[in-house]
Amino acid sequence: MVKYIPEPFRIKMVENIKMLTREERCDKIREASYNLFRLKGEDVYIDTLTDSGTNAMSSEMWSGLLRGDEAYAGAKSYYRFIQACQDVFGYGFFCPVHQGRAAEKVLFPNFLHPGTYALANLFFDTTRGHVVLSGARALECVCEEAKHPELVAPFKGNMDTARMEQTILEKGPENMGLVVMTLTNNSAGGQPVSMANLREVSRICQKYGIPLCIDAARYAENAMFIKQREAGYADKSIPEIVRECFSYADMFTMSAKKDTLVNMGGVIGIKDPDSPLIPGIKANCISFEGFYTYGGLNGRDLECLAVGLYEGMDESYLTYRLGSIAYLGGRLDELGIPYQKPAGGHGIFLDAQKFYPQIPWYEFPGQVLSVELYKECGIRACDIGSYMMDPDPDTGEAVRSINEFTRLAIPRRVYTQSHFDLAVEAIHNVWQRREELQHGYRIVWGPNVLRHFQATLAPIDA
Ligand SMILES: *Cc1c(COP(=O)(O)O)cnc(C)c1O
Repeated sequence: MVKYIPEPFRIKMVENIKMLTREERCDKIREASYNLFRLKGEDVYIDTLTDSGTNAMSSEMWSGLLRGDEAYAGAKSYYRFIQACQDVFGYGFFCPVHQGRAAEKVLFPNFLHPGTYALANLFFDTTRGHVVLSGARALECVCEEAKHPELVAPFKGNMDTARMEQTILEKGPENMGLVVMTLTNNSAGGQPVSMANLREVSRICQKYGIPLCIDAARYAENAMFIKQREAGYADKSIPEIVRECFSYADMFTMSAKKDTLVNMGGVIGIKDPDSPLIPGIKANCISFEGFYTYGGLNGRDLECLAVGLYEGMDESYLTYRLGSIAYLGGRLDELGIPYQKPAGGHGIFLDAQKFYPQIPWYEFPGQVLSVELYKECGIRACDIGSYMMDPDPDTGEAVRSINEFTRLAIPRRVYTQSHFDLAVEAIHNVWQRREELQHGYRIVWGPNVLRHFQATLAPIDA
């Protein structure tokens, strides 16, 4: 029996939630065209759609809001943000932006364009979207272990470095615009990347002169996994591990809505303070986000970000955070329910294809399971599988994902053990009824880029 690790905080303010009846939930999801993104938040009981911007801020972070300096340019809050970033990441230039995809939009067109490639251990959906929007093409070389959900391995987020090098040689190093390392690897199940892997990826990038960018949304959870699992790191502090991770890259894009514990925010970091990229980043930021000392954020948001960067790295918090997800995993293990093992950093990725072997990938088993969980007890999860994959930008053909996952992404410091226990009960009920369903969904309408956010679906009856 896995133990639940007590929360290293107490609750100061609450937000009421309510559970609709099953009949109401069935109506709501039909009205939402079977797309969980189209549901109203108030119709959800436990919201695990995403861990992005759904965090509970601390009293220290709320205090930061009152300190916010709203000067248009050069606000005090901007300089506090810069100081915290320099201290945590050790880079020479930082630009605030309103969220992670804004960092991608501002940064990528500086070196990605038609004819070039970006290669990752796996792309986050918006990151892949911005690679394609810049005209480049996305390549992925995640390690083999990531493709086997039942296999327990310490670093299933790693890059397959042999395949990475082979791919670089096939496409031509001169055509490789960027290598991206996603920490932790969301699409692989919130699985961590080891320091050794990061070091090796960095060596290959240097060998071929390719810039290395960390997609840093979950930098702190990744660092905690390194501390817990990688030889030589048990006695290092989280800030030390974070510093070493970032020392291997040239730049990072970060959604601060994850490990930095804020509700809105993002950062671009460039190691070299004299990088020739900086004028282009500033220019794009001014065009799309706002002046480069606020980047689409309020001064008060920059204050909270500066506090959240440190709180996100607090070891007792991270012990609880990873422990609470491991608790969920342990409960599922007891019931024999398949998921990407071991439990990830920010959520549980149920193996929807194992729930529904009778439903083919192009009828979206991950989406089927998400809808069933909502109907069962008002849990909102999401597909991380073939439904999330946009059609091939060149041929328009459907793209098959490596895994068909249903992700329960756990907001930070928001839910308690009893919510987790209820979620496990709901998952178990749906698991026991798994043979009743014969068909999945078809897409009635959807855009070509980032389709899953907006698409409408219909059940296949035949
Ligand atoms: C959330 C996220 C992004 C995009 O950030 P937004 O803040 O949602 O725009 C990019 N990469 C990773 C790994 C993420 O988790």
